[in-house]
Amino acid sequence: MVDLTKQLVRICSINSTEGEQQIGMFLEQYLRQIPYFQKHPEQVVVRELKNDALHRRNVCALLIGEKDACGDTLIFHGHTDTVGIEEYKGLKPLACSPDELKEALGRLEDLPEEVRKDLESGEYMFGRGACDMKSGDAVFLSILKTASEHPEELRGNILLSLNPVEENLHTGIIEGLDILEELKNRYHLNYLMAVNNDFICPLFPGDTAKTIYTGVVGKLLPCFYIQGKETHVGQCFEGFDAAMLAAKLTEKISLNCDFSDEYAGEYAYPPSVLKMKDLKPWYNVQTPSEAFVYFNYFVHNSSMEEILSKLLAAADETMRDMLQNINDMSRRFCARNGQRHSDYKYHCDVCTYDGLYQRAKKLGADDEEIDRILTRELQKGTDKREIPIHVIRYLLHTAKITHPIIVLYFAAPYCPHNTLQGKDEALISQIMGIAKEVTQETGEEFRFMKFFPSLSDSSYLKIDDTEESLKLLLDNFPGMESLYPLPLAQMKRLNIPAVNYGCYGKDAHKWTERVHVPYTFETLPTLIWKTITYYLK
Ligand SMILES: [Zn+2]
Repeated sequence: MVDLTKQLVRICSINSTEGEQQIGMFLEQYLRQIPYFQKHPEQVVVRELKNDALHRRNVCALLIGEKDACGDTLIFHGHTDTVGIEEYKGLKPLACSPDELKEALGRLEDLPEEVRKDLESGEYMFGRGACDMKSGDAVFLSILKTASEHPEELRGNILLSLNPVEENLHTGIIEGLDILEELKNRYHLNYLMAVNNDFICPLFPGDTAKTIYTGVVGKLLPCFYIQGKETHVGQCFEGFDAAMLAAKLTEKISLNCDFSDEYAGEYAYPPSVLKMKDLKPWYNVQTPSEAFVYFNYFVHNSSMEEILSKLLAAADETMRDMLQNINDMSRRFCARNGQRHSDYKYHCDVCTYDGLYQRAKKLGADDEEIDRILTRELQKGTDKREIPIHVIRYLLHTAKITHPIIVLYFAAPYCPHNTLQGKDEALISQIMGIAKEVTQETGEEFRFMKFFPSLSDSSYLKIDDTEESLKLLLDNFPGMESLYPLPLAQMKRLNIPAVNYGCYGKDAHKWTERVHVPYTFETLPTLIWKTITYYLK
């Protein structure tokens, strides 16, 4: 497993590079060399992503148990791409060579204390993807290989699904759902649950427990388009500065724990601002009339309605604060100069995209024109999150809205949240029982949490959002069908309970990324074998 991980790391499969194709080809070759799959070549399914210039591919393999005919199936899945290697700086050429990198790190004098300790312990493998999550993939591959030597011992099936493009838009798993559904129908499979092996890490300094996640956090990208009112800097109080409004909105929402979504006592990370800019393309002495800001927003279980109303309230408060600030400052300025102040008054408007659309629709907004704008901007290569701005400008123009307004909409990506609820809750106690056996044998301590916190492909296996929530999302996600097409109905149909075991390591996405060898290649396989024994033997 250690060697296989090193082999996988050496294929530098950074997201959106050719390496993603190469690792797909390597995996196919690896699987096709396994004697069981030489006998059953049709059970290795490799499919290129649609219209993908990089020819990335999903690689799946189905091991059918022969003890008795049984549809029960465990899915093991993992992603095969990694994030970039820029932050390795001088060590960049070694980022994908675990052994050489380790040596080079040993020679560095300013290595952070904890990293040095881990390096000297000899218990860690370094390298891009070692922890996130090629070691996890390697564990699955080698377990599948071993299991395939004795299919007669299995009274169910194992489906391995390895997918590219996880680290940005999750296109791999999304298109891979077709394969899951086809195999399900062809072989009459009953998907018991999907186990992802994405990395886990200590949750606080000194934490040694290993976390099993029985669900995954969801993610929304709420975007605020801001129309202010420009003014000359020499009459600065007469305007409503869109950039300043964006800054105030960011201050109100970013890192604010009031927006941290809670379910069963577990809180998601609060929102983070991911982009904030005004839309003035040149220099002049006018204040910006338009701005744009969006946030990463994690969701555990809130409805879209709750989330929208929180965000609208924040936007509304920000607008009022802004107006108050303009008047307070103008009053002080006038007092200093002995001038008379009179309050500026604005109609402070805040609405959702759908709210604006309905208003504009009554005044003649044309759906075909909206489609034309979407297509035009998509062809121009405009960032998908900014394409709706062009639609909003058209709607504001049609609705004759010239006063300051904030329009809230959603953009890509949307990652659905899910956790084991209702009838799936039984799985939690079953996995707890399995983990307890591992603890008895190895002394390893496990902790259970309901949401994998760092986004993962498991999002697309099951949607907990209700139909009402999804409708609200669709209504407020301009052009979702073309900008972020998701097979929502198929996801609802498959509805596969998803958990994450995970390889264990530290500093994923950093240049000190490293995986803990003893846990990942000894304890984790024990946990997975016991899972196979419990469900399929
Ligand atoms: Zn990952």
